Amino acid sequence: MADPPSTPAHQITAAAPPPEPLTLRPDDRVDLHLHTLASDGAWTPAALVDHLAGEGFRVAAVADHDTMRSVPEVARRAARRGIRILPAVEVTTRWSDRQWHVLVYGIQPNRADPEARAFRSVLADLDAQLLTLAEDARRRIEAVGKPLPSLEEIAGGRPLWPYHVLTSAIREGHVKNLKEAAELVSRMGGGFTADEPLDRVVDAAHQAGGIAVVAHPGRSDSVGALSPEDLDRMLAEIPIDGLEAHYRSHTDEQTALYRRLADEKGLFISVGSDSHAPHQPVNPRPWRAVWAKDLLRRLGITVDSVTGSAPVWEPGMDPLAPKPKPAENEPEKPEAAASEPKPDAAMSAAMV
Ligand SMILES: [Zn+2]
Ligand SMILES: [Zn+2]
Repeated sequence: MADPPSTPAHQITAAAPPPEPLTLRPDDRVDLHLHTLASDGAWTPAALVDHLAGEGFRVAAVADHDTMRSVPEVARRAARRGIRILPAVEVTTRWSDRQWHVLVYGIQPNRADPEARAFRSVLADLDAQLLTLAEDARRRIEAVGKPLPSLEEIAGGRPLWPYHVLTSAIREGHVKNLKEAAELVSRMGGGFTADEPLDRVVDAAHQAGGIAVVAHPGRSDSVGALSPEDLDRMLAEIPIDGLEAHYRSHTDEQTALYRRLADEKGLFISVGSDSHAPHQPVNPRPWRAVWAKDLLRRLGITVDSVTGSAPVWEPGMDPLAPKPKPAENEPEKPEAAASEPKPDAAMSAAMV
């Protein structure tokens, strides 16, 4: 299987040496789910690192959709500012007739060792699918007399992905927003997201020593929420490793649910804002390191325990947690999880 075109042969290296030991205080700031312009974000590595340094973050994970292209540069820049970057990628997977976003942590990009081969193939296959879909979408849109002259500038030297085609269709005034752009491509018989089977992704991640965490399990406006029943069925088939229990749109009730489920099933807990750009939809969020203590430990970072009998987390502890909203407050509702994603849901899933 070929490596992604974005990985020149000279950049492929053996497994990186283990990083220096790092110990954090319980309330040190970490955010384990950030995007950059390598996928559908707008953070440049420089701007992201400036922001993280300015806000006092100690550890962050760059987790672009289906690519690790930004990880090396962000990690290099962050290291100079005393911030540890964990390599990550948000892989678009498929299981039980729908897509699931899975955060894979702990695999350095561009590894050439045999253990990483299967995971490199997963990313290469997704990249190839996305390149094909993008060219196809471009041809379909231009064939009906809607030119996309801004496409090259929008892609800006990056591999052409469907997101760039949709963005260009908006810029040219053919459609008003991403939802309409996605509907246009769908109506024409095209597609804009690629996915790989969840079992393949998790198995490949494990071969490379990585950890697979279900992203935004309480978010019903994206690929769909993860119900406790879904989790039971998933775990019966596929050994996923964790849940992103702390997420920017999770209410305290949702965080409590997913922390409890993770505890019961012996799963890691992750914390993520899913920031794509300044204030889009939010800035990186200062999660407490201790909320993801076990995951960080597995990734080589020690977090001191909270002192005395203080709880690690309890409702009300996170001042940024949104208050319950009727539409997002029922992650355990089976019909919310079982419904097939609509084009707009798929679009928001693909983009954010
Ligand atoms: Zn996602
Ligand atoms: Zn994301």
